[in-house]
Amino acid sequence: MDKKNDHTILAVDDSPENLDLIKNILEPYYTVKVAPSSKLALQIARSQKPDLILLDIMLDDVSGYDICHQLKEDNDTRNIPVIFLTAKRSEADEIQGFKIGACDYITKPFSPAIVLARVKTQIHLKAKTDLLERLASLDGLTEIPNRRAFDTAMERQFNQAKRTNTPLSLLIMDIDNFKLFNDYFGHPMGDDCLRKVASTLMKFTQRPEDLVARLGGEEFSILLPNTDNFGAAMRAEQYRLAIENLKIHQANNSPLPYVTVSIGVGTVIAHTNDNVKQLLQAADDALYRAKRQGRNQVCCENLSS
Ligand code: GH3
Ligand code: MG
Ligand code: MG
Repeated sequence: MDKKNDHTILAVDDSPENLDLIKNILEPYYTVKVAPSSKLALQIARSQKPDLILLDIMLDDVSGYDICHQLKEDNDTRNIPVIFLTAKRSEADEIQGFKIGACDYITKPFSPAIVLARVKTQIHLKAKTDLLERLASLDGLTEIPNRRAFDTAMERQFNQAKRTNTPLSLLIMDIDNFKLFNDYFGHPMGDDCLRKVASTLMKFTQRPEDLVARLGGEEFSILLPNTDNFGAAMRAEQYRLAIENLKIHQANNSPLPYVTVSIGVGTVIAHTNDNVKQLLQAADDALYRAKRQGRNQVCCENLSS
C-alpha cells in the first residue's frame, strides 16, 4: 500500500470509539475527518468535498440513509462515493443502501484489512473518474475548458443569475482574418497562435467564477457572472488590448499587422422566461457588428436596458 497521499476520507458515526477505530485504520494512508452527527457530516461534505465518505446507518439524529440521500440529491456532493459501515446486517438493509447510491456496504464487526482494501478500491476509482471528467471538459489543443464545459457553466450561471436577480455577461471572441494567418504561416503556427491567445485570456482572468472556454475553431467565450454591460465592455477591451499587445505578426496580405480579435458582449438580467439562447444570440450579434465595422474592436448588446 502506498504511503499517505492527499486523499481525504470523512467518517460519520455517533460512537466516538468507532470513529477512533476507523481513524486508526485509515490515518496512516489518508487524511481522515470525523463527524459524530448528520449536521456536521453534511457540512463537512459540502465545504471540504472529501474523496470518500464512510457512513454509519444508525445515528443519533437521522439515519445514514437520509444523509446519503441528501448527498446524492446535491450537485456539489453527488459524486462523492459513500460506503456504508453498519451493524445492520440484513439483506434488505444492504439492498436499500445500494438503492440510494452507496458504492459499497460493510457490516460491523469489520476486519480492518477489508475496510482498508475496499476504501483503497473506491479511492482509486474516484481518482480515475475525476481525471476522466477533467479531460472531458478540456480542449485538447489549448488545454482550457471546452464547449461542453462552457455549456454546463452557462446553464448553471444563467439559473443562478435568475435566482439572485444579478446581471450575467457573455463575451464571444473571434480571431480576425485567421484564415489568412493559417494560409500564410501554416497550420502548426496557427495552432501555436491559438494556444498563445488561450493562455493570455486565462492570465487576464482573475475571478474564480469567470470562465474562459474555447468554443471551437478560432472562437473563444468568457462568461462573467454578476457583471453588468458596462463592466463587461471594460473587461472585453482589456482582453482585446492584451491580444493586440502580444504582437503576433499577421500574414503580409492581412489588413492588420498583428493578430487581433473582435469581441461581442451580451448582458442579461434574466427573468423567469428568459433563456440561454437569447444571451448567446446577443453576444453573437454584437460580434458580427464588430467584424462588420472593421474588426479588432468590441461591440455590446444589452438585453436588460
Ligand atoms: P474573420 O475575421 O471574419 O473571423 O475571418 P477568419 O479568416 O478568421 O474566419 P474564417 O471563418 O474564414 O476562417 C477561420 C479559420 O480558422 C479557418 C481555419 O483555417 C482556422 N482554424 C480553425 N480551427 C483551427 C485550428 O484548430 N487550428 C488552426 N491552425 N486553424 C484553425
Ligand atoms: Mg475569425
Ligand atoms: Mg470564426
